Amino acid sequence: MDFKSIVKEYESKIMEDLFGLLSIDSVRTKGTKDAPVGQGPKDALLYMLSLAERDGMTTKVVENLAGHIELGQGEDLFGILGHVDVVPAGSGWDTDPFKPEIKDGYIVARGVQDDKGPTIAAYYAMKILKDLDLELNQRVRLIIGTDEESDWQCTDAYFKQEEMPSAGFAPDAEFPLIYGEKGMTTFDLVLNSDIKPLGDHVLLSFDSGERYNMVPESAIAVLKSTHVEDIVSAYENYLKNTGEKGESSVQDDEVTLTIYGKSAHGSTPQEGVNAAMLMINFLKTITIDDRALKFIAFGDHFIVDNYDAKQFGIDYTHSEMGSSSVNTGVVKYVYDDSSYYGVNLRYPVGLDFKAALEEFTKKLDIHHFEVENLTHMVPHYVDKNDPLVKTLLASYRKYTDDDTEPFTIGGGTYARVMERGVAFGAMFKDSLDTMHQKNERMKVEELLLATTIYLEALFRILVRGGNNED
Ligand SMILES: [Zn+2]
Repeated sequence: MDFKSIVKEYESKIMEDLFGLLSIDSVRTKGTKDAPVGQGPKDALLYMLSLAERDGMTTKVVENLAGHIELGQGEDLFGILGHVDVVPAGSGWDTDPFKPEIKDGYIVARGVQDDKGPTIAAYYAMKILKDLDLELNQRVRLIIGTDEESDWQCTDAYFKQEEMPSAGFAPDAEFPLIYGEKGMTTFDLVLNSDIKPLGDHVLLSFDSGERYNMVPESAIAVLKSTHVEDIVSAYENYLKNTGEKGESSVQDDEVTLTIYGKSAHGSTPQEGVNAAMLMINFLKTITIDDRALKFIAFGDHFIVDNYDAKQFGIDYTHSEMGSSSVNTGVVKYVYDDSSYYGVNLRYPVGLDFKAALEEFTKKLDIHHFEVENLTHMVPHYVDKNDPLVKTLLASYRKYTDDDTEPFTIGGGTYARVMERGVAFGAMFKDSLDTMHQKNERMKVEELLLATTIYLEALFRILVRGGNNED
């Protein structure tokens, strides 16, 4: 069937419904009992369900946080997972972020790429399938969340009471397809030494980075000393010898040292220059008080140049997903208060994380450190040869001339919520990635192409039972 021309006939309807959705400011706000993540996200959810009711599909709301639109009958359930909440608009827009416009073939509005456009594309794939009046071999549900950009309360609430689809995809990333996502954990390595700082050179504070998933681009250390000039000259030598950029300033018996690195995303720590590591490399060369010495020696041993978690003993490499990676995104030291290294660690499927962490924790005691504030998300992986992957990929390739292989990533997508779920679109290879940015936009042409691909996929799965013969 030529789904491309069928979808084209629906263009004005698709645009009208999408514009309605984009006009709802669905940024998360302070919740109420009736609207747990704010009125906007709830309104956007109810709007989607109202389209389905108009078009004769079954709907359900779950705690005003999530809901679904269902089509078909039978035991088996196929899932599509999208979200209608958006990140705040921010500043610098050329248009009103919640008054969608078409400019040069692009729809411009907050959320059009992430994830309202792709959600409407998936919705229309279902609606057209229904209008074609074909016999479906199972049910399909478009599950709609309202808290993807924050805490995923939506899918937590939803799957607490609703069934898990036997397979599915999330149109909330890019084509062709993402079938693996690394496990992710953040924790603080906290100094538990209560030695009182004594001596000549006392480290008063050491501050670097604010976000666990970013490489810190600067680090500042403040020292108190009766010989600040010694520190300044040692620091100047260090900068000269290493070629790093930094500066120092003295006030009475205190000296402030600043050093600059280069920021990068926490999933690729080696693409940046971690300013905290540069500062540790300097501080270990001077005489400092015993408490600071413990902190810096620990950093020298476990933090500096530790990009693959080998120094933690939590390293692992998977043939498709690659190696574990560590980013030390936050360093906080205060001479008389809580002091820690904040790390973000990602690892592929196949590592026994719990056991590795336990071994690592045992090693920390003699260094006077402990692990605190741990968060953890297990890796997500669907076999590349799974029929689901093959069918979705074939649907994508039928309408594009792109034969890029499916891939795995270091970050996490919405797809991981589904046990056998993959991320599938809706950004194309040459799409401009404007997610979370000002002037967020999506080509009308891409919206229609994504709808066509989703329709093809649903047709293959629900009508042809996964048969990929053309
Ligand atoms: Zn999203």
